[in-house]
Amino acid sequence: MHQPRILILGGGFGGLFTALDLAGSGEVTLVSEEDHFLFTPMLYEYLSGEVEAWHIAPRYDELLDENVRFVHSKVAGIDLASQSISLEKNKETMSYDVLVLALGGITNYVGVEGAEEFTLPFRKLAHADNLRRRMVTALDRVPPDFAPQDVRREVTFAVVGAGASGCELSTKMADLLTDAFKRRALHGQPRVLVIEMGDRVVPGMGEQIREFVDDALRQSDVEVHTKTRVVKVAGNEITFEHEGKQESLKTAGVVWTGGVRMNPLIEQLDVEKDRRGLLMVRPTLQLSQHLNVFALGDIAFYPDATPTLAGTAQLAFQQATLAARNIKAFNAGKEMHTKHFEELGEAISLGTERAAVLTGGKAFGGALARQARFALYTSRLPTWHHRLRVGASWFFEGTTPRPLLPLGFEL
Ligand SMILES: Cc1cc2nc3c(=O)[nH]c(=O)nc-3n(C[C@H](O)[C@H](O)[C@H](O)COP(=O)(O)OP(=O)(O)OC[C@H]3O[C@@H](n4cnc5c(N)ncnc54)[C@H](O)[C@@H]3O)c2cc1C
Repeated sequence: MHQPRILILGGGFGGLFTALDLAGSGEVTLVSEEDHFLFTPMLYEYLSGEVEAWHIAPRYDELLDENVRFVHSKVAGIDLASQSISLEKNKETMSYDVLVLALGGITNYVGVEGAEEFTLPFRKLAHADNLRRRMVTALDRVPPDFAPQDVRREVTFAVVGAGASGCELSTKMADLLTDAFKRRALHGQPRVLVIEMGDRVVPGMGEQIREFVDDALRQSDVEVHTKTRVVKVAGNEITFEHEGKQESLKTAGVVWTGGVRMNPLIEQLDVEKDRRGLLMVRPTLQLSQHLNVFALGDIAFYPDATPTLAGTAQLAFQQATLAARNIKAFNAGKEMHTKHFEELGEAISLGTERAAVLTGGKAFGGALARQARFALYTSRLPTWHHRLRVGASWFFEGTTPRPLLPLGFEL
C-alpha cells in the first residue's frame, strides 16, 4: 500500500515533536540544517556550564528511530505548486504528499547599522560557545594588578533587548563574570548592561514575574537602560540614544537578543500572511490555499491561542501534537481537530543561582524556583529515554556552573 510521504522542514520544537508523534504513520522525513535538536530555554545554562550539550541538544539520530528518516541539509527552496522542496546538499529535490513547515525564525537586527556584523547572536549552541569564549578572552586580557576602573572598562558587555532572553542572559553573564573576578583575584567589578527600547523589562510577562526579574537584575548588578535605542554598533563600540542624547561605549562584546524575524524561505512563499509576514493558518494548522501543507511554531499565526504565547516554544510544542493528529486524520480522510492553546506557565532563569516560576497563577523565585525549573524542563525534553538520562544526570551529578577559566583550561 502507498504510504503518504510526509516531509517535515525544521527540527525544532514544532518539527521534532511532530515527527516523534507521527513516527510510523507514513513515510516520515525530517529535514534540518542542524544535526541536533536544541532546547532553547536552557541555552543560558549551557553558556554557564550548568548543563552540557548532550542534555539540551541531543542528536536527531539518538531521538528518532527507523520510523523517521533524517536528512541533514539546509532547505534551499519550497515549491508548493509542484509539491517539492530543494535541498542545498547535492542540490537534491524531494517530493511530498504532506508538508510540515516548522522552520522557526531568525535574529532580527531591525536595520541597526553594524548590528549583524559586529554583535553576537544568541540562538544556537555555537553562539553560546562564541560568547563564552569572548568572556574568557576579555578576562584573560586583564592583568591582576589593573586598577578597578580599568578592569571594568575591559570587561564591559552589553546585551541588547530586555525581553526574557536579554534578562536571562545578562544576569547569567554578570554572575559568571563576577565569579571569575573572585577566582582570578581581579580588582573591581565587571560591567554588564542591558539596553531596552521600551520603558520596562520583560514587557511580555506579567507583573508577578517582573518583580523577580527586577530584583535579580539588581542582585546581579546588571545596569538596566530602558527607553534607550541602539543606533550603531562598530567594532568594539556601541552607540545608543536615550532621551535624544547619544552615548558611545567601548565593550568587549555586544549580544543581540533584540527580536526575531521571518525565515527567508517563508518570506518567498506566495500564500496568505499577516502584516508581520507570519503564515495565516486555519485552526487545524493547514494553509487555506494548500490543505496538504501544515505550518506551526514561530512562522505561523494561529488564530486561537493566548496572545502571549506567540513566538514561544510552549506554543510550538503544543501545536506539534495537534499537527500530528490532524495529519493522521488528513491521510485517513477523517475529520480534523482544532484546539485552543493556553499558557502552561512561565519559567525564567535569573543568574546562576536563581529563577522565577509562575504556575497556577502564583509566582515564586529563588533557589527553589531554579530546582523547579530544572524539574519542569526535564519533563519537556524529547523522548522518555532522553528525559530519564538527563534527569538522572542532573539529579546525581548536579548542575553547578562551570567557572570561566583561562582559555587554555576551558574544556
Ligand atoms: C535563547 C532562546 C531562549 C528561548 N527561551 C524560551 C523559553 O524559555 N520559553 C519559550 O516558550 N520559548 C523560548 N524561546 C523561543 C522558542 O525557542 C521558539 O519559540 C521555538 O523554538 C519555536 O519553535 P519552532 O519549531 O517554530 O522553531 P525552532 O525551534 O527555531 O526550529 C526551527 C528549526 O528549523 C531549522 N531551520 C531553519 N531554517 C532552515 C533551513 N533553511 N533548512 C533546514 N533547517 C532549517 C533550524 O535550524 C531549527 O532547527 C527561546 C528562544 C531562544 C533563541
